Amino acid sequence: MNRRRKIYEGKAKILYEGPEPSTLIQHFKDDATAFNAQKHEQIEGKGVLNNRISEYVFTRLAEIGIPTHFVRRLNMREQLVREVEIIPLEVVVRNVAAGSISKRLGLEEGTALPRSIIEFYYKNDKLGDPLVTEEHITAFNWANPQEIDEIMALVLRINDFLSGLFLGIGIRLVDFKVEFGRHFENDMMRIILADEISPDSCRLWDVETQNRLDKDRFRRDMGGLIEAYQEVARRLGILVENGHPKASGPVLVSSK
Ligand code: UDP
Repeated sequence: MNRRRKIYEGKAKILYEGPEPSTLIQHFKDDATAFNAQKHEQIEGKGVLNNRISEYVFTRLAEIGIPTHFVRRLNMREQLVREVEIIPLEVVVRNVAAGSISKRLGLEEGTALPRSIIEFYYKNDKLGDPLVTEEHITAFNWANPQEIDEIMALVLRINDFLSGLFLGIGIRLVDFKVEFGRHFENDMMRIILADEISPDSCRLWDVETQNRLDKDRFRRDMGGLIEAYQEVARRLGILVENGHPKASGPVLVSSK
């Protein structure tokens, strides 16, 4: 049925050739993976929710001047994006200790970090995405020092904005992962935010209950992943009770 040219297939998404030059179609699958794909399941409806949540977040970020690959949503599972040369780094920003930093440094999950910490991981599934430093990044030419500076400035702005956005709807942004790419236009190159921002790539904890509203529900076999992602979408104002999305802003949650 599908005659579009597949450019790349990842664990949770597929990229197809886009309808215009320099564009791609980003398709969100229902696949959930963890521990470098050793754990793998289909979770019906996850792709649809991530498509909408990521659209919402990228649109808000564009409004504050963050350059992103997002052009427009095409349908329930797909969005039109700008083609980039992906920088092979997963850039993680952490506000609260959880996951790998808790293990590596022996920090109890939930401990507020003294300040936001940026980490770089080399995107390589065979190696399990190892943590790397700026020395590795520049020595191996994955990005140059100027690009690293630009990426660090962008992720700090993204973190500030998203922390406030989520706090306003009763959610603590514990950490998140983003990816960047080089976009070429008329002999000009600029670094833009690519990939997705969704509960697959963030840790989102309810402020009141500490309830996990993110992919840790899958990683840790807690169940209720779809309900958690729906809750995030509902609080963002992009999902109403009957499931039909509407286009309003975030719904404030009073903290009493
Ligand atoms: N993350 C991600 N993709 C990855 C690894 C991590 O989106 O391949 C996200 C993860 O959801 C979390 C943050 O990056 O929000 C930090 O993850 P961590 O290093 O703690 O790794 P994990 O505990 O997932 O192994």
